[in-house]
This record gives sequence, C-alpha cells and structure tokens, in this order.
Amino acid sequence: MKSAAFEYHRATSLSDAFDCMARYDGQALWLAGGQSLLAMMNLRLANPPALIDIRGIAGMSDIRQSGSIVRIGALCTHHQLLTSPVIQSAVPLLAQAVPHVAHLAIRNVGTIGGSLALADPAAEYPTVVQALQGTLIAQGPAGERRIPVDEYFVGLYQTALQPGELLIAIELPVAQAGQQFHFDELSRRRGDYGMVGLAAAGHLQAGACSGVRLSFLAVGDGPVLARQAMAALEGHPLDDATIRQAQQALVQDLQPAGDLQANAATKLHCARVLLGRALAAWRTAS
Ligand SMILES: Cc1cc2nc3c(=O)[nH]c(=O)nc-3n(C[C@H](O)[C@H](O)[C@H](O)COP(=O)(O)OP(=O)(O)OC[C@H]3O[C@@H](n4cnc5c(N)ncnc54)[C@H](O)[C@@H]3O)c2cc1C
Repeated sequence: MKSAAFEYHRATSLSDAFDCMARYDGQALWLAGGQSLLAMMNLRLANPPALIDIRGIAGMSDIRQSGSIVRIGALCTHHQLLTSPVIQSAVPLLAQAVPHVAHLAIRNVGTIGGSLALADPAAEYPTVVQALQGTLIAQGPAGERRIPVDEYFVGLYQTALQPGELLIAIELPVAQAGQQFHFDELSRRRGDYGMVGLAAAGHLQAGACSGVRLSFLAVGDGPVLARQAMAALEGHPLDDATIRQAQQALVQDLQPAGDLQANAATKLHCARVLLGRALAAWRTAS
C-alpha cells in the first residue's frame, strides 16, 4: 500500500517551520527520520495534508553538557546517541538503552525526538526519560515551554504536545557519583520492540536504596512508573527479601494487556525477572 497524496515542505528554520505549519492550521505533520511516520502513512494510519521536513533546521541535533544537565537536540539520531562520549559518560542509562532501539539502518536516521513525540508504549526512550525525571522542551509559534516528564505522556500514543508544536530538545540530569542505572528488555529477536523492558535509576547509600525510579515499557499505554515497587525499595537494604518484595509489588503497579508478543501473565513474570536482574546487578556493583 502507498500513502495518500500529500504536500512536502523542507523547513530551513524554526520560524519557517511554524509559518508553514500555520498554512495547514496545525494539521500538517513534522517529518524527522520518517522511520515510523512513513510506515504509518503507507498503511493509511496517518493521512496528513502535508509533511514539514524539520531535518534542515540548524541546532536541533546537538548534544551539550552544561553543569548538571545534558541537553539533547530532538533531531539527534539513535546512532549519534550510541556514539556520543557525552552520553556514554554523563547519561549511562540512555547509553544502555540505545542498542535496544531497532536495527542499524533505522538507528542511522530515526531520531530521539521522533520517538518521544510518537510515544509508542514499547519504545525505550520514554522509560529512560521517565526514570531520570527528564524535561521535554517544546516550541510553538508563541515560544518555548518546558514539560516535566510526569506531565508529558498522557495516553496511548498521546503526549502533552499540542498540534503544530515541535519537540526541540530533551534535558536529562548528569549521573551523580554513587548512582546506579540499569536498562534491559526482553524481546523475541534483538532489535525488535521489547516484550517488556525496564529502565531503572537510584542510589545505594550504605547498602540501602533511595530515590529509586523504575519505568517499564510495553506494559501499559505509555511508560509505567512502578510506584509500589519503588516504595518497597526505599530505605531498605538490597537483600533477597527486599528484592522479592519489590518484585511482588509489581502486581499492584502493572496491569499489562496481552498483545501479539505475550499474554498478561507472561509480561508480569518478565517484568519481575527484569527487576530481579537489575537489583542483583546493583548489589554486585555496590
Ligand atoms: C523495523 C523497525 C523497528 C523499530 N524498532 C524500534 C524499537 O525497538 N524501539 C523504538 O523505540 N523504536 C523502534 N522503531 C522506531 C524508530 O525508533 C523511529 O526512529 C522512531 O520511533 C521515530 O523517529 P523518527 O525520527 O523516525 O520519527 P518520524 O517517523 O519522522 O515521526 C514520528 C512521529 O513523531 C512526529 N515528530 C517527529 N519529530 C518530532 C518533533 N521533533 N516534534 C514533534 N513531533 C515530531 C512526527 O510528526 C510523527 O507523528 C522501529 C522502526 C522500524 C521501522
């Protein structure tokens, strides 16, 4: 199948992009890597009157560390993230997640902004941004606004971005000394969307857990924060009993629907396995 007819514009700057979007009353779609959008159009799941290609806008694919924050331009490709020394050293959780995103050819063109704007519940980046309490920077014709991650994912493939608004960057905190990170997912084949995945961040001080954030993928409408499991860890030593309690608490946090990859019970089991592995790895490393 091929897409319905559409108009194509290549924006040269942000103001050019918004002028162009205004001509379509906010109904055109931004085109970044096209790795999800073009497939959706070919399947007639999306039928925009026009695509506005944003890849020519300068300054949207930088990765910059400034103080305790790393700012990642929305047009950064998965490959750029994978090969960035700043990401490797300052945002290790993201560095661990990128190799799980798709395959080489897709990683060369797909972007972090496209992934976070699409908000696929099985995507890796939403869980990383949620675990790290990142901030999403959106821009519209009226200016810029900062959206904390807890307000950004609002439903299945839905975000707080308004029609015609552009995600321009993501800010993530620089890893602190003593902080632990773990990303892992279970998928049928390497590069496939995960059956279940986990992004975890937290501190281990004097053997006790604090400030742990656990974000799961492919178990809900978006990234799911496992609040009860996080509470089961807070202030406790990372021993076998605590790990078991956190794993058991996941039944209150996750109510996955079965999908083509696995039924609900299998997903819950996989989530517990991933959490057990993450916490065991932290204990070994500490
Ligand atoms: C075979 C295959 C396997 C894949 N496996 C995975 C996987 O395992 N994990 C994973 O996470 N992804 C996977 N993907 C998706 C891939 O990561 C895409 O790159 C990503 O989801 C979308 O990024 P993009 O830059 O291609 O965005 P596009 O396809 O260009 O856009 C996606 C949507 O986001 C909007 N958009 C794009 N950029 C912006 C922006 N800056 N501001 C506002 N809206 C914007 C577009 O209008 C569109 O609605 C896979 C894709 C394929 C084809």
